[in-house]
Amino acid sequence: MFDIGANLTSSHFSKDLDVVLNDSLKAGVEKICITSSNLDDVKNAKKITEKYKNLYYSVGFHPHNAKDFKIEFLKDMSIYLDDPKAICLGEMGLDFNRNFSSKEEQILCFESQLSLANSINKPLFLHQRDAHEEFLSILDNYKFNQKLIVHCFTGNLSELEDYLKRDFYIGITGWVCDLKRGLDLRECINHIPQDKLLIETDSPYLSPRKKIRRNEPKFLIDVAEEVARLRKQTKESIIKSSYENSLNFFNLHR
Ligand SMILES: [Zn+2]
Repeated sequence: MFDIGANLTSSHFSKDLDVVLNDSLKAGVEKICITSSNLDDVKNAKKITEKYKNLYYSVGFHPHNAKDFKIEFLKDMSIYLDDPKAICLGEMGLDFNRNFSSKEEQILCFESQLSLANSINKPLFLHQRDAHEEFLSILDNYKFNQKLIVHCFTGNLSELEDYLKRDFYIGITGWVCDLKRGLDLRECINHIPQDKLLIETDSPYLSPRKKIRRNEPKFLIDVAEEVARLRKQTKESIIKSSYENSLNFFNLHR
């Protein structure tokens, strides 16, 4: 399996990252892309990936952190993106759910990063919550040559259709295992083309197990199993296709 988004630079993993990574390998998670949400994350994620062959990282500024974003960061970001282990630009986008940064700050931060997109040949890793219309209207102003994923998709069918029309990839987390919050998402699962569906844990958040607070990459299997159940497919077929899709998405085929 390929966990396309895990926040391994989080302080929740500072004490036992080795154990977490060892457990995830044992659970069949062969590759992980560490999500970064600001430049400190990027720096720390790079350091972690230097130690482990099967780890990669993203280079981006999360909308929650938009208030700290400065335009001169783009230069550092593009330097990091030259690293073969830095496999995507993100996470970036809009999150109007909690507005840790103002809408204006989020839009500036998002658009600034999008302006980098055309000078790099790496896919875009996008975050959107409660901002579907604004998010799409910004993206529709750009023409991208690379692939694009809406990670941790939690929307409804009409939002899904908007993304599929634009050929976006869709990232599914343990949100799908939540019988209450995940209702809309569970309805969508059957409508995602097999070649567009990727899986992720978003660790340490969104644990698919009720009794365990800290999510870890080793629980990615729960996401694969739930997706398979909802699609009436075997878990093996979801594991295989999502892994292949991830390699394709991140251009990791050699
Ligand atoms: Zn996110």
